[in-house]
Amino acid sequence: MTLRVGIIGAGPSGMAQLRAFESARQNGAEIPHIMCFEKQDDWGGQWNSSWRTGLDAHGEPIHSSMYRHLWSNGPKECLEFSDYSFDEHFGRAISSFPPREVLFEYIKGRVEKSDVRKYVQFQTAARWVSYNELTQEFTLTVEDLPTGSTSEHIFDKLVVSTGHFSFPAAPEFTGINSFPGEVLHAHDFRGAERFAGKNILLIGSSYSAEDIGMQSHKMGAASVTFSYRSAPMGFDWPENTVERPLVTHFDANTAHFSDGSSGDFDAVVLCTGYQHKYPFLPSDLALKSKNVLYPANLYKGVVWQQNTNLFYLGAQDQYYTFNMFDAQAWFARDVMTGAVELPSLEAREADIERWLGLQAALLDHNAEADFQSEYLRELIAATDYPPFDLAAVSQLFKDWMGHKATDILGYRDMSHRSVVTGTLAAKHHTRWLNAMDDSLQRYLQGPSQDVDTATLDAVTAEAISR
Ligand code: FAD
Ligand code: NAP
Repeated sequence: MTLRVGIIGAGPSGMAQLRAFESARQNGAEIPHIMCFEKQDDWGGQWNSSWRTGLDAHGEPIHSSMYRHLWSNGPKECLEFSDYSFDEHFGRAISSFPPREVLFEYIKGRVEKSDVRKYVQFQTAARWVSYNELTQEFTLTVEDLPTGSTSEHIFDKLVVSTGHFSFPAAPEFTGINSFPGEVLHAHDFRGAERFAGKNILLIGSSYSAEDIGMQSHKMGAASVTFSYRSAPMGFDWPENTVERPLVTHFDANTAHFSDGSSGDFDAVVLCTGYQHKYPFLPSDLALKSKNVLYPANLYKGVVWQQNTNLFYLGAQDQYYTFNMFDAQAWFARDVMTGAVELPSLEAREADIERWLGLQAALLDHNAEADFQSEYLRELIAATDYPPFDLAAVSQLFKDWMGHKATDILGYRDMSHRSVVTGTLAAKHHTRWLNAMDDSLQRYLQGPSQDVDTATLDAVTAEAISR
């Protein structure tokens, strides 16, 4: 009987799974019966973002946490598909840190070239999964959101690719209930324009805090204060920006910090991360994890340890993104078809333990980038996913982190070299700090109202010297 594969979620990870099977088909393999269920009306996951917050038109929780003026926070050269380069998609060199809409366009471009959209049922939410040990089949109940009608589908293999940056982790702080200004979680942040002239407090010390803080600075916030739990980010911040230890309590619009200092604020943004949450899975199949590079209980970060018919894609914290989801999807595909043979439960456990041990010993961000590169190396070696120079990408991550350390407002203006094509990224026409139109059109069109003469002069000088 033809293998039946169910995929939940058509974000970059689910799209990678579709693409992995398509690649096998192109190489002459028999394709399983595939069904993919996506609750939004388009694919792209986080990259398919909207102005909405809270619930969508069908009363479903809004998935995407992205916002206006979000640009890639890592070099695009670190996430490039090894079988579909940026050069191939855009027909020319583009800059290293494109805005959201440009990356959305890129990931759609690859799958639109193949005929895989037919596998996806949009506006269809996974509601519940059960597993029959006897028949080794999953029953997946889904809801067609426009009509509210539910249906059941039987699968031999199930892929969970629903992401883990959608359900906010929002801690309580004494007195925050009486804070008179706006309090929101990063998930509901849609743009910093309204923070112009305001004093903003961001709780958290990771990517969301950093970027929303600097977006606020860019849009003219009077001051930006970060409050950290474990450690400060320690960047060379602009003058109006400070880091404080954790808030102990609020007293009206005054926040008190654990070092005894305090400050008055107009708005608070909780950049306190997200929960792994899979409301459609019974507890024995649902991953419980913090946002870490190697969640426990997943062999090769992909295969559920107690039920190897279940796969998770993109479940880890991410230095690599699109190309890692590819490597995982190719691996999951080959485990499903038997092309990759799984070792025994004990051997898998030992492998997981080895990775967890390595993770526990990581000392800094550079080591973390190397760790995830090594993880990809193992995955890619097991399948026919086109290999790429992982050592070179690891170095790109380190260069990027170095740039952030020297210029937190300027690192997105730097150019990196593709390990797939060898192309050096183009200089963008407008510095990140000065760019006020983040549309695909403006990005590709070139400078006009966002004109930034310093960058233009540099680009012109570079062109003349060529
Ligand atoms: P997601 O993109 O989250 O996609 C999951 C999909 O599953 C969604 O389409 C969702 O609608 C669907 N889904 C969820 N539940 C159900 C259900 N019950 N039934 C049916 N469908 C369901 N990465 C980068 O490389 N560069 C960046 O600059 C970058 N910026 C980011 C900024 C923010 C604010 C966030 C939150 C993440 C960012 N990321 C970035 C990481 C991003 O998560 C990945 O790039 C990528 O989107 C993860 O893909 P995914 O498919 O695993 O998950
Ligand atoms: P995250 O990386 O998981 O970080 C969560 C942060 O919340 C950590 O600093 C954590 O502190 C803090 N925190 C958790 N609980 C807390 C508590 N009770 N009190 C105080 N602090 C607490 O989540 P994220 O920063 O939201 O990033 C999620 C993803 O979005 C990442 O993949 C990132 O790359 C992406 N992103 C990208 C952009 C972009 O510019 N393209 C912008 C935003 C986000 P500890 O260190 O103490 O645990």
